[in-house]
Amino acid sequence: MKTTATILTLAVTALSSAGASFAGEVSGASRGRRPTIILRMIKDADVDERALLKAEKEAAAILDRSGIALVSLTCEAGRAVWTSGNPCQRERGAAEFWFHVVTRKPSRATTEMLGFTELDESTGSTSAGVFYSTAVELSDRYRCDVFQILGAAIAHEIGHLLLGANAHAPKGLMVPQWGPSQFEMISISELSFTSRQARLLREEVTRRTLAAGPKHSDHSSREDRL
Ligand SMILES: [Zn+2]
Repeated sequence: MKTTATILTLAVTALSSAGASFAGEVSGASRGRRPTIILRMIKDADVDERALLKAEKEAAAILDRSGIALVSLTCEAGRAVWTSGNPCQRERGAAEFWFHVVTRKPSRATTEMLGFTELDESTGSTSAGVFYSTAVELSDRYRCDVFQILGAAIAHEIGHLLLGANAHAPKGLMVPQWGPSQFEMISISELSFTSRQARLLREEVTRRTLAAGPKHSDHSSREDRL
């Protein structure tokens, strides 16, 4: 049995100057009886809230194209009042994850690192996130919007949260290192999971949900706040 933590990173080719712009609105995922993933979003204070909201919609649109609904909850770190009705403080569901949007990279992170997923197979715990400052830099270099890059990076890390370290692929959203061709697709909101990856994700969400039983009801996005 493996007991070590596996840290997966999403890297990009060399970076240059910073810059950001915001444009376009992307429709969110439709929800129903489809496999549903819930993210408990925690952002650093200096992450642009509008950009993050749009990024969540972009990630939801990517998952939507794979037949999966994505619900993002606005959460805060360090609060644990178990009597609260806040969904961020309930026991996590089978396909529910904490997700961090951070501006300050840890010292071990490289300049090119855009996102990360940490999988600890001994405890089953996971931690994932994206680096906002890197997305801002990339938006200038590749003429993408910040929310598009963040949204795609969030979806990439969801791929790892569900499919683990072996989720990388030579095509599509799960390419391990993004370059001009990936950002060109991101700029037109067309970087997606491959059909095979989409099927694996749907199967994994369904498997986890069925294994956990019916207790985890649906959440409504952003309707509950601390
Ligand atoms: Zn990756």
